[in-house]
Amino acid sequence: MFEKKISRRSFITLSAAAAASLALDRSKVNGLAAAMGNKANYPVVVIGAGLGGLCAAAYLSKSGVPVTVVEQHAIPGGYATAFERGDFTFEVSLHLTTIHNNSTAAILEDLGILDKLKFVPLPGQQGPESLAETLSGRFPSEKEGIRGFIKEITGISDEISGLSKEKGKSGKASIRRYPKLWGVKDKTLADLLGGYVKDQELKDLLASGWGAYGLPPSQLSAFYFAAARGGTLRNGSYYIRPRSQALSDALAETITRSGGKILYDTAARGIKLKDGAVEGVDLQDGGKLPAVAVVSNASALTVFKKMLPPGSVPADYLGKIDGYSTSISTFIVWLGLNRDVREIVKTYRTGFRTGRGIEADYRSCLKGELERAPYGITVYDHLYQGYSRPGKSTVTLLCLCGYEPWRRFEADYRAGRKDAYYKEKERLTEALIARAERDFIPGLRSMIEVRESSTPLTNWYFTRNPEGAIYGFNQTVDNAFMNRLDCRTPVKGLYLASAWGNPGGGYGGALSGGEKAFRMMVEDWGG
Ligand SMILES: Cc1cc2nc3c(=O)[nH]c(=O)nc-3n(C[C@H](O)[C@H](O)[C@H](O)COP(=O)(O)OP(=O)(O)OC[C@H]3O[C@@H](n4cnc5c(N)ncnc54)[C@H](O)[C@@H]3O)c2cc1C
Repeated sequence: MFEKKISRRSFITLSAAAAASLALDRSKVNGLAAAMGNKANYPVVVIGAGLGGLCAAAYLSKSGVPVTVVEQHAIPGGYATAFERGDFTFEVSLHLTTIHNNSTAAILEDLGILDKLKFVPLPGQQGPESLAETLSGRFPSEKEGIRGFIKEITGISDEISGLSKEKGKSGKASIRRYPKLWGVKDKTLADLLGGYVKDQELKDLLASGWGAYGLPPSQLSAFYFAAARGGTLRNGSYYIRPRSQALSDALAETITRSGGKILYDTAARGIKLKDGAVEGVDLQDGGKLPAVAVVSNASALTVFKKMLPPGSVPADYLGKIDGYSTSISTFIVWLGLNRDVREIVKTYRTGFRTGRGIEADYRSCLKGELERAPYGITVYDHLYQGYSRPGKSTVTLLCLCGYEPWRRFEADYRAGRKDAYYKEKERLTEALIARAERDFIPGLRSMIEVRESSTPLTNWYFTRNPEGAIYGFNQTVDNAFMNRLDCRTPVKGLYLASAWGNPGGGYGGALSGGEKAFRMMVEDWGG
């Protein structure tokens, strides 16, 4: 049985540093990995082949650790995936990312896939100066505040880059030396905006894109918003060509090429413990896999509430998790059109504004009011020539959607009785298409060659994220940045690598979580 060679004192120190950490001391981790001795004694099971799980497994297999990934679906990627219908290949999640030009780039480089991926810049992006000018033109009396806010969020993004270069010095003491980071750690986005501008419409414009973080300004961690939005303003936003599946496939290939295994169509049922430490994983099909450590890419809620033996998780930790809320889900309509609509919808992504303000919009999304909630339309053909076949268009309509309206279908859905569910899904699909026809593309219905849609239950089915959550736990102040649930858990040998853990959701968050889980494992083995 594997036992952590780590004292309680250093465990606490490492945990505190890691929770706050954005940096990887690669030479130290590589040194520890090299000194591990016979790596055959360290079999690891990774539950889930989403980005966090794939990343952790790729690090492990490249370090010579025998790793097995179990994935309940037939392909890698979790949300970072695509699917085909007729002549069209539809993107499931990716709209934009900065993973190749921020601190996450080092992860892709470590894993040898940075050069293999093709990133295309989003068309029509505004940099900090141009955004400040546009908004100052509309709100001249708030010019100073607008510039101040944009400087603040880009400054936070710069400080994160600085911190990520401070190898091995990323505990609270280090973060204190970054005034913007330290200053924002306990603020909501509404707090941050309120420090710079007064007009509510302007605040909503500065917070636009809030949907990409799943919470309105009154609840969203300002750190999380600034890290992501400041980063895209500073470095630009990109798409992965041809689809996000390329990233997932590249990670999966790294794992298998360096000796790791990925078992598809294989679901984990439980995690076995011996003397309080991880001993292996029980599979749904009755199989068992021995392990000295388990990395969970599956949701933290599922792991702690369903996969571990009762009584094995400290009550205060479970209480903490019970206090967190689950992030919002989505209702999506994918449309394969028999016309090139780039002249009709002239931008890559555009949103329908309700004029009711973000807080009211969020409540509407939570209630699943697809007839009136804000929604976005994405015309992927603006990204690069040849996204769709000539003369065709690949379009999505996306509405953030709470789980409550779908809860009533849950039991029947899981039991395979889906008639009522399909009826409701069809009704809302039609409603969203009708809105897009009215708001953006006249005659849309007559152009539809292929159509598909998804609900929060679809998200659950393909990723097993409870309530179809798209960013793990909500990125509230009490569960973001230094407070985000640590990748090292109180169960010996169990680590989190997903949107549910540190540092959080999104492609960059999930990948960083995978790298952190790997780092902590190696530290625990060699410390
Ligand atoms: C519509 C949509 C749009 C988005 N847009 C963006 C965007 O533009 N940019 C961005 O950065 N982020 C975006 N995101 C968020 C981003 O996709 C996710 O935060 C991220 O991909 C989550 O990765 P993850 O590692 O947590 O794993 P997940 O993608 O949640 O995957 C978890 C994996 O674990 C597997 N699994 C679960 N339980 C088990 C089990 N018991 N046994 C075996 N396997 C199991 C699942 O099948 C799944 O493959 C979007 C998400 C959605 C849904």
